[in-house]
Amino acid sequence: MRNLSSWGNIHHTNGEVTFLKSTDKNIFHNKPTTFFGFGRSYGDLPINNSGGVVCTQDYNEIISVDWESGVMKAKSGISLKQILEHSIPHGWFLNVSPGSSYVSLGGAVANDVHGKNHHKSGSFGNFVKSIGLKRSDGSYLELSREQNQELFNLTISGLGLTGFIDWVEIKLKKISSTNLVTENIRYESLDDFFELSKESNEWEYVAAWVDCLAPEKNIGRGILSRSKHCDDGKLIFEKDMHFLSLPFSLPNWALNKSSIKAFNFMYQSIHSKQSKSAIANYKKSLYPLDSIKNWNRMYGKRGFYQHQCIVPKKFAFDATQELLSLISRSGQGSFLAVLKNHGPELSPGRNSFCIEGTSLALDFPNNGKDTVNLLSKLDSICNKYGGRIYPAKDANMSSEIYKNCFKNWKELDDAKDPNISSAFWERVTHE
Ligand SMILES: Cc1cc2nc3c(=O)[nH]c(=O)nc-3n(C[C@H](O)[C@H](O)[C@H](O)COP(=O)(O)OP(=O)(O)OC[C@H]3O[C@@H](n4cnc5c(N)ncnc54)[C@H](O)[C@@H]3O)c2cc1C
Repeated sequence: MRNLSSWGNIHHTNGEVTFLKSTDKNIFHNKPTTFFGFGRSYGDLPINNSGGVVCTQDYNEIISVDWESGVMKAKSGISLKQILEHSIPHGWFLNVSPGSSYVSLGGAVANDVHGKNHHKSGSFGNFVKSIGLKRSDGSYLELSREQNQELFNLTISGLGLTGFIDWVEIKLKKISSTNLVTENIRYESLDDFFELSKESNEWEYVAAWVDCLAPEKNIGRGILSRSKHCDDGKLIFEKDMHFLSLPFSLPNWALNKSSIKAFNFMYQSIHSKQSKSAIANYKKSLYPLDSIKNWNRMYGKRGFYQHQCIVPKKFAFDATQELLSLISRSGQGSFLAVLKNHGPELSPGRNSFCIEGTSLALDFPNNGKDTVNLLSKLDSICNKYGGRIYPAKDANMSSEIYKNCFKNWKELDDAKDPNISSAFWERVTHE
């Protein structure tokens, strides 16, 4: 029996864990089952407190691929990194990449993940052509826009509840280079962020780092990064060398308001207001944290929360200002804070997180009650403006808030496989 934890290191599985192999026919436990990809969700989504957990990391074969059209069909446990290893030499890339490549194909579908190019491309589900779904009653369904469409839409963003995602067929993106030309621009206020984001709309990947401890007059200040693929014909898959690795959890005092303030000051100082172009490989821009193995241990043994919410475009300024002001006043938060403008909803996912608007994602070291109280206040602000909280990052929202965020949740509950559950689902539907 192995203990698995999700990325925030707060939630651990208590149930029985099995590791699925490509040849295995029996997928489900005899008790409520949760699927676990790479556990890159931060909270209790891939966690099961009493039933069985099925880990899919070794269920990772490519079933077919057409390098002419860029269509790949692979088993659900394959990581995005493994997909890139195969596709890059042929000039194909992922249409949508979350901030880590250690994410499984099944996990990317279940959360309908998004990347820095959401304003242009939408979320992952937009590029899913079909899905093979195994249900615990022994039935097997093929899902697509043409076949079993309703279940297709509910499985994309379905939090792994509609059945075991056996394989996924995706459309890849043609690229001429794995190098990205990137500009990092320092800006001083929230007004500047919205102005710069608008100006950067034609860039492929856009997101900003924000100083979560900025004083009131500089709320929202930070560094906006924008990048696009070069044209230099270089197609190089970058291996993680893991020169940097956190071998053990840092003590809890290592991350406090003073050390974060110092980091934020230093980080802003090395960037100028004038945009400067630099060319670097995709990993540096899209998956910067993947190079530091076990970086989540820097938050100490008590672990950490991440809060990510998205608010509709028409309230984006007011809501973001209110969220950031509260965070700054609380003195909590860390240097990992990301602000991003999102485009229209293009994915068929019925319960997807992304809407057209602005999202804010922030890590919070776990300081017990103080942190949980702050998270609840952030949830309330987001809820007041008609926004959504991201299940992939959540470990705290109430049932009421969840149901307000995801108006189609009942459709998911009705389509849920009776032998699947998760600690997250128990929390947000049974409170
Ligand atoms: C550093 C970092 C950066 C991130 N950046 C982003 C980002 O920019 N955008 C974004 O959207 N997300 C981001 N995430 C979150 C991450 O992309 C999602 O949580 C993703 O779903 C994790 O995939 P996983 O394989 O680890 O799945 P897990 O976290 O293990 O599971 C996620 C869900 O998928 C279900 N699942 C997994 N496999 C299957 C299967 N075969 N069948 C049925 N259900 C299944 C699980 O039951 C669970 O509900 C980030 C995470 C990290 C750690």
